[in-house]
Amino acid sequence: MTLEPTTPDTAARDTAALDSEDGQLAYELDRAHVFHSWSAQAALKPMVIAGGLASTVWDFDGNEYLDFSSQLVNVNIGHQHPAVVAAIHAQVDVLATIAPATANLARGQAASRILERAGDEFSKVFFTNGGADANENAIRLARLHTGRDKVLSMYRSYHGNTGAAVVATGDWRRVPNQYARGHVHFFGPFSYRSEFWSESPVEEGERALQHLRRVIQSEGATSIAAILIETIPGTAGVLVPPPGYLAGVRALADEFGIVLIFDEVMAGFGRTGDWFAFQSLADEGADVVVPDLITFAKGVNSGYVPVGGVIISPSIAAAFDDSVFPGGLTYSGHPLAMASIVGALDAMESEGIVANAKRVGADVIGPGLRALQAKHPSIIGEVRGVGVFWALDLVADAATREPVAPAVIAALKKSLLALGLLPFFADNRLHVVPPCVVTDDEVARALDLYDQAFSSL
Ligand code: PLP
Repeated sequence: MTLEPTTPDTAARDTAALDSEDGQLAYELDRAHVFHSWSAQAALKPMVIAGGLASTVWDFDGNEYLDFSSQLVNVNIGHQHPAVVAAIHAQVDVLATIAPATANLARGQAASRILERAGDEFSKVFFTNGGADANENAIRLARLHTGRDKVLSMYRSYHGNTGAAVVATGDWRRVPNQYARGHVHFFGPFSYRSEFWSESPVEEGERALQHLRRVIQSEGATSIAAILIETIPGTAGVLVPPPGYLAGVRALADEFGIVLIFDEVMAGFGRTGDWFAFQSLADEGADVVVPDLITFAKGVNSGYVPVGGVIISPSIAAAFDDSVFPGGLTYSGHPLAMASIVGALDAMESEGIVANAKRVGADVIGPGLRALQAKHPSIIGEVRGVGVFWALDLVADAATREPVAPAVIAALKKSLLALGLLPFFADNRLHVVPPCVVTDDEVARALDLYDQAFSSL
């Protein structure tokens, strides 16, 4: 299916009215007064973006960039989609804010749209302000439901920047922030950089499951409330699990009475070419592996208004029918966020945007990246991904798989920006993560720019 977007590509792209002095002012105000995430502040030189449309953004000087980052892998529907913008406008005129304890039409519609897509195994949605607090509340639900304390999550993971979510995180961001208790980490499967000396993806999956079983036994199964995993670890490198792995984790959770949480904050709502990544990962001839709780944010409304949430199975929801759920947020189910979800999900469906992500990934991005690897085999160690969710593992030595040095990443970033492409890098990887509305022509252009950047090294 070829995408037929409703996005007008002229009106909002009128860059003639841009004033580079506004760009300069935006930069100066930022440097004077804004404190940025995850950074030493002094050397920062943030880009100033004036506007965007679909898969393109531009600055105040009229320079255009193909957005192959989707910002923080969240703008799944593309920039300034008219249906989402209109839905927010319409809601502002009706009711801009209302307390979470009220019933609100947009909120009910957003919840039901999400549940339709998650499937019959889920019955309720708890709305949060973003992905981190979605994980925070999923962990809380699991602890209250089981009466147990510990949470198992992967070393190669990111779950957000709040108390329990950042300690559930496996990467470096956990280490300076370890205030929450009861978190234990394990290694998930990653054939290209195996912790298990495996020689095939199937062996990797089996050994990773055996390792998880040993961690559960060693920690004491009856102390473990939840296994929290990104269905496809994203920032850690788009680590698509091998066949059988998710089913094996589900079986372990069932065997030991542990709540299984899939973090679909990055992988959900179209990124993998389905509404949820767990739906994309059904093994040949096997049923989809369904968790007990799903956390989401980003792609649900492409970040036009901050929002996230937890999708809850009937049995866990029922546990709070007569006992109080001790959690809440002033902006839980904020009407502007809810309206933007309804607008985004309806447009994604009617315009075939999720199907476009699947087709473009299988037919254009995947083959294109593999051809790029064939042309640059000494630096592109592995290509992996699905839908519009891909990573190139960049190596200094293809035989040893030693990651490239940070200076190589810096050089690639500089040349891609100069060529007019906004890239997404994490550690030694180039993540190829355009919006789900990306066209074949845009992918072809991006592949050419990646090729030029690799050739210039
Ligand atoms: N979980 C995953 C898998 C993520 O990728 C992120 C953010 O990148 C989060 C949780 C945290 O979401 P937020 O930044 O909206 O709190």
